[in-house]
Amino acid sequence: MLNDIKSQTREELEGQFAAWEQPVYRVKQLMDWLYVQRVTDWDAMTNLPKILREKLRQEFSLGVLELVRKQGALDTTQKFLWRLADHSLIESVLIPANPSLYGEPSDRHTLCVSTQVGCAYGCKFCASGLDGWKRNLLPHEIVEQVMGVERWSAEQAKVESLNSEVPLTLSLSPSEGERVAERPGEGTIQPSTLRPRNPGNGFPGPRLVDNVVIMGMGEPLANYDHLLKAMRLLNASWGGRIGARKITVSTSGLAPQIRKLADEPEQFSLAVSLHGATDAVRDRIMPVNRKFPLKELTAALDYYQARRGRFITFEYILIAGVNDGVEQTKPLGALAKRLNAKVNLIPYNTVEGLPWARPEESVCEKFLAAMRAQKVVTTLRREKGHDIDAACGQLRLKTERELAGRP
Ligand code: SF4
Repeated sequence: MLNDIKSQTREELEGQFAAWEQPVYRVKQLMDWLYVQRVTDWDAMTNLPKILREKLRQEFSLGVLELVRKQGALDTTQKFLWRLADHSLIESVLIPANPSLYGEPSDRHTLCVSTQVGCAYGCKFCASGLDGWKRNLLPHEIVEQVMGVERWSAEQAKVESLNSEVPLTLSLSPSEGERVAERPGEGTIQPSTLRPRNPGNGFPGPRLVDNVVIMGMGEPLANYDHLLKAMRLLNASWGGRIGARKITVSTSGLAPQIRKLADEPEQFSLAVSLHGATDAVRDRIMPVNRKFPLKELTAALDYYQARRGRFITFEYILIAGVNDGVEQTKPLGALAKRLNAKVNLIPYNTVEGLPWARPEESVCEKFLAAMRAQKVVTTLRREKGHDIDAACGQLRLKTERELAGRP
């Protein structure tokens, strides 16, 4: 199998081009095609000599993720299901900034990306681990999730501007919740038709993704080397151009890798999927806690703080009757203060086949108030992500089971 071009750093490509006796400015031209124009075809790189394009084609693949399904409305959370070259399915979730959650327009977007196919960590509330772990994603498969959404967005803008004279309304399809554009006298435009029709011409269009959170399917720090390379490619001034602080790694609590990340030179942000502030609660829902209990996890976070001096984020999914009692706010508040952490409360998204439930809204609000009373910076996500199978891994699982004819 060929290495993919978007798994290569600039330095690696400069070495390759030097071996081919190509001038170094050709690397810059190539990077521009890959990360600014976001083309999907070697022949679209028209300012590279044909002979160089042939060498590149023989030496590297130029992989593109295939969008097989998309759910969600234009101004709320949108979920993308991608097919990889080996036919594995992965998910990315595009989350608009908070104002849009209340129906207002928003121009800031966060993309949540996957790092593994499936997950071996088996958190009890999560759909991603239900069918086990299949493989780690390669760097370009992580990077391409961002590029694929950018390409989709640019193509969509093009479709909409072409039809701007025709009144356009957006709605959810009743069967799948997929975004469809409807206009008088026409059927529907399905996502598959929104793929670039003329790669290389007319792109890139406006940029969509401002922040990346590595929080989709898989435990990112269990795929450390590929993850780090992908983050560097996304952060590079010649690559994805996303600031290091705007790239957040979210881990279920792999203490040794947290220490390793603290020693890297870049200022990537860190979030911890905590979901319980005592070992009793975490043991119940997160098997990783038996390997790295809170004492070990907090020691690693202390180290991270000492090295970085930056706040971290605790993600805390509120699950009815499991971790949503107001008595849990005391240990959570203490931990957050000790580690200079901000807390994101996320009401649980129901997953078919799992016994857990979302707490009542009043319970979530009470939990939030109790956290704020301790003067801990705390937010509560109030969107209705559960309408579109927004729980991690759910859309992929549903599609895999449909394809296999399983319930
Ligand atoms: S929450 Fe994250 S680490 Fe846990 S099973 Fe799901 S994907 Fe894996």
